[in-house]
Amino acid sequence: KLSPRLQTIIEMVPPINCLADIGSDHAYVPIYLVQQQQIQRAIASEVSVGPRNISQKDIAAAHLQKQITTRLADGLTGLTASDRVDLAVIAGMGGQLIAQILEQGQQQLEYIPQLILEPNNDEACVRSWLNNHNWSIVQENIVQEGRHIYEIIHAQKLAIPITLTEQQIMFGPQLLQKRDPIFIHKWQEQLRRAEFMANNLQNARQPQPQKIAAAKLRIKQIKEVLNYA
Ligand code: SAM
Repeated sequence: KLSPRLQTIIEMVPPINCLADIGSDHAYVPIYLVQQQQIQRAIASEVSVGPRNISQKDIAAAHLQKQITTRLADGLTGLTASDRVDLAVIAGMGGQLIAQILEQGQQQLEYIPQLILEPNNDEACVRSWLNNHNWSIVQENIVQEGRHIYEIIHAQKLAIPITLTEQQIMFGPQLLQKRDPIFIHKWQEQLRRAEFMANNLQNARQPQPQKIAAAKLRIKQIKEVLNYA
């Protein structure tokens, strides 16, 4: 059985033929989707030999070597146009690393029409990259697994891109609209942390006006969304 995070990623995959899983590790997503016959084939790509070997072992145990191939490559760079990838999943990494993989994979992104991204942190960094490169967020979900809350983003290249405001980049355009209880909980917690930090900064011996201003701005932005203003 898959974790709530991976389950949500899988539920967000639209009907497609070929999926690339970047940073695949166990290759859980491709194995599950091929077994369920939701996709015909997949590429499980890894930058490290250890996780690549794990995915090869799991793919062989599921007897899916014909449908799922593995690649050893950094980010998207192992993919070619002839792979005809319909969607790339990049999940379980920091947001800055995901943005870097997208930045370095722009050549490959010319022929990959859809992305599902799950940054473990710095979600705004990923949304900002998408916004700056004319990718549109078509779906977003938020899911809690233990103490961690994950945001999952489905992006596409649209004829007329959906551009985002600062607030939408920070909170997520769809998440802002849906106002899921997990979303509210996440930002209540973030507000508590920002207030704690602002308080500490204000009581510090060395004044740091820029940091205080940043913390106060963050508090204001969160309060606006939580309607506490
Ligand atoms: N995607 C799976 C998931 O969401 O459960 C596995 C996540 S695992 C925590 C992160 C994986 O990303 C590791 O196996 C790591 O080797 C791989 N990784 C890190 N940087 C990468 C890069 N630049 N290109 C490809 N894979 C990378």
